[in-house]
Amino acid sequence: MAVFNKIALIGIGLIGSSIARVVRERSIANKIAISTRSQQTLDEAIALNLGDEYHTDPTKIVEDADLVILCTPIGVVGKITRAISTHLKPGSIISDVSSVKVSVIEQMLPHIPDGVNFIPAHPVAGTEKSGPKHGFPTLFDNRWCILTPVESSSDKAIELLKEFWQACGSNIEIMEAEHHDRVLAITSHLPQLIAYNIVGTADDLETVTNSEVIKYSAGGFRDSTRLAASDPTMWRDVCLHNKEAILEMLARFSEDLSAMQRAVRWADGEALFDIFTRTRNIRREIIDAGQEIDVSNFGRDE
Ligand code: NAP
Repeated sequence: MAVFNKIALIGIGLIGSSIARVVRERSIANKIAISTRSQQTLDEAIALNLGDEYHTDPTKIVEDADLVILCTPIGVVGKITRAISTHLKPGSIISDVSSVKVSVIEQMLPHIPDGVNFIPAHPVAGTEKSGPKHGFPTLFDNRWCILTPVESSSDKAIELLKEFWQACGSNIEIMEAEHHDRVLAITSHLPQLIAYNIVGTADDLETVTNSEVIKYSAGGFRDSTRLAASDPTMWRDVCLHNKEAILEMLARFSEDLSAMQRAVRWADGEALFDIFTRTRNIRREIIDAGQEIDVSNFGRDE
Protein backbone atom coordinates (compact mmCIF):
# COMPACT_ATOMS: atom_id res chain seq x y z
CA MET A 1 0.00 0.00 0.00
CA ALA A 2 1.21 3.53 -0.81
CA VAL A 3 2.76 5.48 2.09
CA PHE A 4 1.51 8.81 0.69
CA ASN A 5 -1.20 9.74 -1.77
CA LYS A 6 0.74 12.50 -3.52
CA ILE A 7 4.38 13.52 -3.27
CA ALA A 8 5.87 16.68 -4.76
CA LEU A 9 9.53 16.75 -5.80
CA ILE A 10 11.08 20.18 -6.21
CA GLY A 11 14.31 19.63 -8.16
CA ILE A 12 14.57 16.57 -10.41
CA GLY A 13 18.30 15.90 -10.78
CA LEU A 14 20.16 12.77 -9.73
CA ILE A 15 18.48 12.52 -6.32
CA GLY A 16 14.99 13.81 -7.23
CA SER A 17 14.75 11.54 -10.27
CA SER A 18 15.99 8.53 -8.29
CA ILE A 19 13.23 9.17 -5.74
CA ALA A 20 10.67 9.50 -8.56
CA ARG A 21 11.83 6.21 -10.09
CA VAL A 22 11.78 4.16 -6.89
CA VAL A 23 8.45 5.65 -5.79
CA ARG A 24 6.89 4.74 -9.14
CA GLU A 25 8.48 1.30 -9.33
CA ARG A 26 7.49 0.28 -5.78
CA SER A 27 4.14 2.20 -5.69
CA ILE A 28 5.24 4.17 -2.61
CA ALA A 29 2.91 7.06 -3.57
CA ASN A 30 -0.13 7.19 -5.84
CA LYS A 31 0.88 10.41 -7.56
CA ILE A 32 4.22 12.13 -8.25
CA ALA A 33 4.34 15.85 -9.02
CA ILE A 34 7.57 17.36 -10.33
CA SER A 35 8.89 20.88 -10.44
CA THR A 36 12.25 22.12 -11.65
CA ARG A 37 13.71 25.53 -12.40
CA SER A 38 14.28 25.17 -16.14
CA GLN A 39 11.93 24.12 -18.90
CA GLN A 40 14.76 22.06 -20.38
CA THR A 41 15.13 19.82 -17.30
CA LEU A 42 11.33 19.64 -16.98
CA ASP A 43 11.14 18.41 -20.60
CA GLU A 44 13.78 15.77 -19.80
CA ALA A 45 11.72 14.61 -16.81
CA ILE A 46 8.60 14.44 -19.01
CA ALA A 47 10.47 12.45 -21.68
CA LEU A 48 11.69 10.04 -19.00
CA ASN A 49 8.09 9.72 -17.72
CA LEU A 50 9.19 10.37 -14.15
CA GLY A 51 5.93 11.80 -12.82
CA ASP A 52 2.23 12.50 -13.26
CA GLU A 53 2.24 16.29 -13.02
CA TYR A 54 4.90 18.81 -14.09
CA HIS A 55 5.47 22.53 -13.51
CA THR A 56 8.33 25.02 -13.46
CA ASP A 57 6.53 26.91 -10.67
CA PRO A 58 6.83 24.89 -7.41
CA THR A 59 3.83 26.62 -5.81
CA LYS A 60 1.61 24.88 -8.39
CA ILE A 61 2.50 21.31 -7.34
CA VAL A 62 2.51 21.45 -3.52
CA GLU A 63 -1.08 22.41 -2.68
CA ASP A 64 -2.49 18.89 -2.35
CA ALA A 65 0.82 17.09 -1.72
CA ASP A 66 1.18 14.99 1.44
CA LEU A 67 4.96 15.01 1.21
CA VAL A 68 7.10 17.74 -0.38
CA ILE A 69 10.83 17.05 -0.87
CA LEU A 70 13.30 19.74 -1.89
CA CYS A 71 15.98 18.11 -4.09
CA THR A 72 17.83 21.26 -5.16
CA PRO A 73 21.25 22.68 -4.25
CA ILE A 74 21.59 23.63 -0.57
CA GLY A 75 21.94 27.36 -1.22
CA VAL A 76 18.37 27.80 -2.50
CA VAL A 77 16.26 25.76 -0.04
CA GLY A 78 15.35 28.84 2.06
CA LYS A 79 14.23 30.84 -0.95
CA ILE A 80 12.11 27.95 -2.27
CA THR A 81 10.52 27.25 1.12
CA ARG A 82 9.56 30.93 1.43
CA ALA A 83 7.95 30.83 -2.02
CA ILE A 84 5.86 27.69 -1.36
CA SER A 85 5.09 28.19 2.35
CA THR A 86 1.57 29.62 1.99
CA HIS A 87 0.69 26.89 -0.53
CA LEU A 88 1.59 23.90 1.65
CA LYS A 89 -1.24 21.58 2.69
CA PRO A 90 -2.04 21.63 6.43
CA GLY A 91 -0.81 18.39 8.05
CA SER A 92 1.63 17.69 5.22
CA ILE A 93 5.35 16.95 5.58
CA ILE A 94 8.11 19.03 4.03
CA SER A 95 11.59 17.55 3.80
CA ASP A 96 14.81 17.78 1.79
CA VAL A 97 17.79 15.65 0.74
CA SER A 98 20.64 18.12 1.34
CA SER A 99 24.09 16.89 2.35
CA VAL A 100 24.28 19.54 5.13
CA LYS A 101 21.66 19.92 7.84
CA VAL A 102 22.25 22.85 10.27
CA SER A 103 22.24 25.43 7.48
CA VAL A 104 19.18 23.85 5.86
CA ILE A 105 17.27 24.08 9.14
CA GLU A 106 18.33 27.72 9.56
CA GLN A 107 17.19 28.50 6.02
CA MET A 108 13.90 26.57 5.97
CA LEU A 109 12.51 26.60 9.53
CA PRO A 110 11.54 30.31 9.61
CA HIS A 111 9.23 29.76 6.61
CA ILE A 112 7.43 26.61 7.82
CA PRO A 113 3.79 27.44 8.58
CA ASP A 114 2.04 26.11 11.71
CA GLY A 115 0.48 22.72 11.09
CA VAL A 116 3.09 21.64 8.53
CA ASN A 117 5.70 19.08 9.64
CA PHE A 118 9.28 19.91 8.78
CA ILE A 119 11.66 16.93 8.88
CA PRO A 120 15.10 17.44 7.30
CA ALA A 121 16.61 14.31 5.73
CA HIS A 122 19.80 13.22 4.00
CA PRO A 123 19.93 10.04 1.96
CA VAL A 124 23.63 9.15 2.11
CA ALA A 125 23.68 7.81 -1.43
CA GLY A 126 24.76 9.31 -4.71
CA THR A 127 27.14 9.31 -7.61
CA GLU A 128 29.30 11.94 -9.33
CA LYS A 129 26.63 12.37 -12.02
CA SER A 130 23.89 14.97 -12.06
CA GLY A 131 20.64 15.53 -13.93
CA PRO A 132 17.45 13.46 -14.26
CA LYS A 133 18.79 10.94 -16.77
CA HIS A 134 21.40 9.68 -14.31
CA GLY A 135 19.00 8.69 -11.54
CA PHE A 136 18.16 5.04 -10.90
CA PRO A 137 15.59 3.34 -8.66
CA THR A 138 18.00 1.25 -6.58
CA LEU A 139 20.19 4.21 -5.54
CA PHE A 140 18.94 4.13 -1.94
CA ASP A 141 18.96 0.35 -1.43
CA ASN A 142 20.78 -0.55 1.78
CA ARG A 143 22.09 3.03 2.12
CA TRP A 144 21.50 5.13 5.20
CA CYS A 145 18.98 7.93 5.25
CA ILE A 146 19.64 10.28 8.17
CA LEU A 147 16.68 12.22 9.57
CA THR A 148 17.43 15.28 11.71
CA PRO A 149 13.98 16.25 13.07
CA VAL A 150 13.43 19.67 14.64
CA GLU A 151 11.54 20.24 17.90
CA SER A 152 8.22 20.81 16.15
CA SER A 153 8.39 17.64 13.98
CA SER A 154 5.56 15.36 15.18
CA ASP A 155 6.32 11.72 16.03
CA LYS A 156 3.60 10.57 13.64
CA ALA A 157 5.14 12.51 10.75
CA ILE A 158 8.62 11.19 11.57
CA GLU A 159 7.25 7.63 11.51
CA LEU A 160 5.64 8.25 8.10
CA LEU A 161 8.83 9.69 6.62
CA LYS A 162 10.79 6.75 8.04
CA GLU A 163 8.33 4.40 6.38
CA PHE A 164 8.74 6.29 3.10
CA TRP A 165 12.54 6.04 3.06
CA GLN A 166 12.46 2.41 4.17
CA ALA A 167 10.16 1.68 1.23
CA CYS A 168 12.78 3.42 -0.98
CA GLY A 169 15.30 0.83 0.31
CA SER A 170 17.09 2.88 2.98
CA ASN A 171 18.09 2.15 6.54
CA ILE A 172 17.10 4.96 8.89
CA GLU A 173 19.15 6.84 11.47
CA ILE A 174 17.92 9.75 13.57
CA MET A 175 20.60 12.30 14.46
CA GLU A 176 21.11 15.81 15.77
CA ALA A 177 21.79 18.15 12.83
CA GLU A 178 25.11 19.39 14.31
CA HIS A 179 26.32 15.82 14.75
CA HIS A 180 25.28 14.94 11.20
CA ASP A 181 27.33 17.81 9.80
CA ARG A 182 30.48 16.78 11.71
CA VAL A 183 30.16 13.11 10.74
CA LEU A 184 29.59 13.93 7.08
CA ALA A 185 32.42 16.45 7.10
CA ILE A 186 34.88 13.62 7.71
CA THR A 187 33.22 10.80 5.76
CA SER A 188 32.12 12.74 2.69
CA HIS A 189 33.10 16.41 2.51
CA LEU A 190 36.80 16.04 3.36
CA PRO A 191 37.42 13.13 0.91
CA GLN A 192 35.75 15.24 -1.75
CA LEU A 193 38.03 18.23 -1.05
CA ILE A 194 41.09 15.97 -1.03
CA ALA A 195 40.06 14.52 -4.39
CA TYR A 196 39.61 18.01 -5.86
CA ASN A 197 43.03 18.90 -4.50
CA ILE A 198 44.87 15.82 -5.82
CA VAL A 199 43.41 16.25 -9.28
CA GLY A 200 44.04 20.01 -9.18
CA THR A 201 47.67 19.51 -8.09
CA ALA A 202 48.28 16.97 -10.87
CA ASP A 203 46.78 19.38 -13.34
CA ASP A 204 49.08 22.17 -12.10
CA LEU A 205 52.31 20.12 -12.17
CA GLU A 206 54.62 21.48 -14.78
CA THR A 207 57.17 18.66 -14.65
CA VAL A 208 54.61 16.02 -15.61
CA THR A 209 52.58 16.63 -18.68
CA ASN A 210 48.83 16.29 -18.57
CA SER A 211 48.92 13.43 -21.05
CA GLU A 212 51.23 11.47 -18.72
CA VAL A 213 48.84 12.05 -15.82
CA ILE A 214 46.09 10.55 -17.92
CA LYS A 215 48.18 7.78 -19.52
CA TYR A 216 49.70 6.46 -16.29
CA SER A 217 46.80 7.18 -13.99
CA ALA A 218 46.75 4.52 -11.28
CA GLY A 219 43.67 3.34 -9.42
CA GLY A 220 43.95 5.92 -6.61
CA PHE A 221 44.18 8.83 -9.00
CA ARG A 222 41.39 7.46 -11.19
CA ASP A 223 39.08 7.18 -8.19
CA SER A 224 39.95 10.76 -7.20
CA THR A 225 39.05 11.97 -10.68
CA ARG A 226 35.67 10.26 -10.32
CA LEU A 227 34.97 12.26 -7.15
CA ALA A 228 36.47 15.43 -8.63
CA ALA A 229 34.05 15.17 -11.58
CA SER A 230 31.10 15.83 -9.22
CA ASP A 231 28.78 18.75 -9.65
CA PRO A 232 30.60 22.03 -8.78
CA THR A 233 27.39 23.77 -7.63
CA MET A 234 26.55 21.04 -5.13
CA TRP A 235 30.05 20.93 -3.67
CA ARG A 236 30.45 24.70 -3.57
CA ASP A 237 27.24 24.81 -1.51
CA VAL A 238 28.40 22.00 0.80
CA CYS A 239 31.61 23.95 1.54
CA LEU A 240 29.81 27.26 2.06
CA HIS A 241 27.14 25.70 4.29
CA ASN A 242 29.24 23.33 6.40
CA LYS A 243 32.18 25.67 6.84
CA GLU A 244 32.93 25.15 10.56
CA ALA A 245 32.86 21.33 10.55
CA ILE A 246 34.89 21.15 7.32
CA LEU A 247 37.52 23.53 8.70
CA GLU A 248 37.76 21.49 11.90
CA MET A 249 38.27 18.24 9.97
CA LEU A 250 40.74 19.90 7.58
CA ALA A 251 42.81 21.11 10.54
CA ARG A 252 42.97 17.57 12.00
CA PHE A 253 43.75 16.14 8.58
CA SER A 254 46.60 18.62 8.03
CA GLU A 255 48.15 17.66 11.38
CA ASP A 256 48.01 13.95 10.51
CA LEU A 257 49.37 14.63 7.04
CA SER A 258 52.30 16.51 8.58
CA ALA A 259 53.00 13.49 10.79
CA MET A 260 52.99 11.26 7.72
CA GLN A 261 55.24 13.72 5.89
CA ARG A 262 57.67 13.55 8.80
CA ALA A 263 57.62 9.73 8.77
CA VAL A 264 58.42 9.72 5.05
CA ARG A 265 61.19 12.33 5.46
CA TRP A 266 62.86 10.41 8.32
CA ALA A 267 62.27 7.03 6.68
CA ASP A 268 60.23 5.93 9.71
CA GLY A 269 58.98 2.69 8.18
CA GLU A 270 57.49 1.47 11.45
CA ALA A 271 55.24 4.55 11.79
CA LEU A 272 54.13 4.28 8.17
CA PHE A 273 53.44 0.55 8.50
CA ASP A 274 51.34 1.17 11.64
CA ILE A 275 49.21 3.84 9.94
CA PHE A 276 48.70 1.73 6.81
CA THR A 277 47.69 -1.31 8.88
CA ARG A 278 45.14 0.61 10.93
CA THR A 279 43.50 2.11 7.83
CA ARG A 280 43.24 -1.29 6.14
CA ASN A 281 40.99 -2.53 8.94
CA ILE A 282 38.56 0.36 8.41
CA ARG A 283 37.99 -0.72 4.80
CA ARG A 284 37.29 -4.27 5.97
CA GLU A 285 34.72 -2.92 8.47
CA ILE A 286 32.97 -0.89 5.72
CA ILE A 287 32.76 -3.99 3.50
CA ASP A 288 31.48 -6.09 6.42
CA ALA A 289 28.80 -3.43 7.07
CA GLY A 290 27.56 -3.89 3.47
CA GLN A 291 28.43 -0.31 2.48
CA GLU A 292 31.03 -1.33 -0.16
CA ILE A 293 31.88 -4.45 -2.10
CA ASP A 294 35.26 -6.09 -2.27
CA VAL A 295 36.04 -5.82 -5.97
CA SER A 296 38.78 -3.77 -7.53
CA ASN A 297 36.54 -1.33 -9.41
CA PHE A 298 34.29 -0.95 -6.33
CA GLY A 299 31.47 -2.50 -8.35
CA ARG A 300 31.15 0.63 -10.46
CA ASP A 301 30.59 0.27 -14.17
CA GLU A 302 33.32 2.66 -15.26
P1 NAP B 1 21.38 17.82 -9.68
O1 NAP B 1 21.37 16.49 -10.34
O2 NAP B 1 22.35 18.83 -10.14
O3 NAP B 1 19.90 18.46 -9.75
C1 NAP B 1 19.63 19.70 -9.17
C2 NAP B 1 18.18 20.08 -9.31
O4 NAP B 1 18.00 21.34 -8.63
C3 NAP B 1 17.71 20.31 -10.75
O5 NAP B 1 16.35 20.00 -10.84
C4 NAP B 1 17.93 21.81 -10.94
O6 NAP B 1 17.03 22.43 -11.82
C5 NAP B 1 17.60 22.35 -9.57
N1 NAP B 1 18.30 23.61 -9.30
C6 NAP B 1 19.62 23.86 -9.50
N2 NAP B 1 19.90 25.13 -9.16
C7 NAP B 1 18.74 25.69 -8.74
C8 NAP B 1 18.39 26.99 -8.29
N3 NAP B 1 19.31 27.96 -8.16
N4 NAP B 1 17.08 27.21 -7.96
C9 NAP B 1 16.16 26.23 -8.08
N5 NAP B 1 16.44 24.99 -8.52
C10 NAP B 1 17.73 24.73 -8.85
O7 NAP B 1 21.61 17.67 -8.09
P2 NAP B 1 21.56 16.36 -7.15
O8 NAP B 1 22.83 15.62 -7.29
O9 NAP B 1 20.26 15.65 -7.34
O10 NAP B 1 21.62 17.06 -5.71
C11 NAP B 1 20.49 17.67 -5.14
C12 NAP B 1 20.65 17.72 -3.63
O11 NAP B 1 20.89 16.40 -3.15
C13 NAP B 1 21.80 18.58 -3.12
O12 NAP B 1 21.33 19.35 -2.04
C14 NAP B 1 22.80 17.60 -2.58
O13 NAP B 1 23.45 18.11 -1.44
C15 NAP B 1 21.93 16.41 -2.21
N6 NAP B 1 22.61 15.12 -2.32
C16 NAP B 1 23.34 14.83 -3.44
C17 NAP B 1 23.99 13.61 -3.53
C18 NAP B 1 24.81 13.28 -4.75
O14 NAP B 1 25.66 12.40 -4.70
N7 NAP B 1 24.58 13.93 -5.88
C19 NAP B 1 23.87 12.66 -2.49
C20 NAP B 1 23.06 12.96 -1.39
C21 NAP B 1 22.45 14.20 -1.31
P3 NAP B 1 17.34 22.77 -13.36
O15 NAP B 1 18.11 21.61 -13.92
O16 NAP B 1 15.96 22.87 -13.93
O17 NAP B 1 18.11 24.04 -13.37
